[in-house]
Amino acid sequence: MRVLDAECEWEARDPANGVEIAKFPDMGVDETERAIQAAKRAQREWSQATGRERGTLLRKWFNLMIENEQDLAKIITWENGKTLTEATGEVKYSASFFEWFSEEAKRLYGEVIPSPNKSQRMIAIRQPIGVVGVITPWNFPCAMLTRKLGAALAVGCTVVVKPASETPLSALALCELGRRAGLPDGVVNIVTTHDHTKEVGKHLCESVDVAGISFTGSTGVGKLLLKQSADTVKKVSLELGGNAPFIVFDDADIDKAVDGAIAAKFRASGQTCISVNRFYVHSSIREEFSEKLRERVKRFRVGSGFDLATTHGPLVNQKAVEKVRSHVEDAVAHGAKILAGGHDKASASSTDGYFYPPTVLGGMKNNMRIASEETFGPIASIFEFNTEEEVLAAANNTRFGLSGYFFSRDISRCWRIAEKLEVGMVGVNTGVISSEVAPFGGIKESGIGREGARQGLDEFTQYKIDKDCVH
Ligand code: ADP
Repeated sequence: MRVLDAECEWEARDPANGVEIAKFPDMGVDETERAIQAAKRAQREWSQATGRERGTLLRKWFNLMIENEQDLAKIITWENGKTLTEATGEVKYSASFFEWFSEEAKRLYGEVIPSPNKSQRMIAIRQPIGVVGVITPWNFPCAMLTRKLGAALAVGCTVVVKPASETPLSALALCELGRRAGLPDGVVNIVTTHDHTKEVGKHLCESVDVAGISFTGSTGVGKLLLKQSADTVKKVSLELGGNAPFIVFDDADIDKAVDGAIAAKFRASGQTCISVNRFYVHSSIREEFSEKLRERVKRFRVGSGFDLATTHGPLVNQKAVEKVRSHVEDAVAHGAKILAGGHDKASASSTDGYFYPPTVLGGMKNNMRIASEETFGPIASIFEFNTEEEVLAAANNTRFGLSGYFFSRDISRCWRIAEKLEVGMVGVNTGVISSEVAPFGGIKESGIGREGARQGLDEFTQYKIDKDCVH
């Protein structure tokens, strides 16, 4: 792997203080085309290696990630802002996909299908789709990449990666480890870009040499990529935005629900696609839950992710801060009450970074923007409900369907609600749902396809039927 030269550069900045981290080549369509051709050349040999050979390489890469865990974590904290503890967690989570897919590489099972014709046997084999365009976001700069690369490389695809322009360093560091693990040239190609993002994306979608697009990011961009991929009929896999509900029923263990709320809302300062956007709390326990959540949130300390006393780092950029601020202002203008936080930079240790304090809002109503728009920030918004029917209707009243959470000690209610929530992933009495062994993905406008798990291989493979005459 090499990073190609480009005429222009842009710089990524540390979100904790706005200071430049490094300059990167601002590549365009020409460099993207060269990367696609390199991936195409490499794919033939890569796809002909055995699953065991590809798996062994992924395993070496996994080992190198674990050996270099702290360096990778520092890079993530530097360019994304999350705390070093969270960044270390991300590295472990990222590496788990290489470990998982290093094993799955050997298990790309096809099927033997009973034939309707006595003289034939039918076998369905699975083959890699070819070159894949991979576009990743800044919120998990390492994990979103390994979740896609692990599966794509395991089955024999090669990739052209366009990392987010806020966080290119994590992708480059990760791929340097890939090079040390012995990854052949052309199997992973990185296109760093800033000003040419749209053209690079369009070129990946429209190229006849790219067989699939795997994207994680906003719903708007996902829809655009889907449209741009239509003319070449690509296999498209999309992990898009969410608007996760978190329901606390009257029979819930409130302390556990508060723990779950902290994990599902405030991890990465709420900047994850499975972060809770709307808390629905039964009217009989609303006050107790709100008070306990408020107490916990007031103890958070916002600051640089490198400061060990920091519990929550900055948001990724000023645009993110503006969006969070506008959601809070809109809610307050419509009658919401600030129970904790709510003032820009009030509890930040640095005044130059992109900070917004973790906030709890009470008295939320359906006419507020947060009820329907994803905030992507550290705001816990509490709505009140009275009946199961009412809360299910409210929770499902969105075009998004990625994740949902609820807390209840009634087992029959647990099964019932888990089935009726219109999402791809449900956390039942837990705020943590991501794992390399479980298929990650959404329904409705939250996406197409699944990542991680056995199902993650499906996005990068196609079936081919062999009919053999046996008489
Ligand atoms: P966010 O708003 O969270 O940054 P985006 O969807 O804009 O989410 O970004 C996710 C990824 O998509 C990033 O790598 C970004 O550079 C890329 N991206 C943004 N716009 C486009 C586009 N028009 N075509 C291709 N990629 C894009």
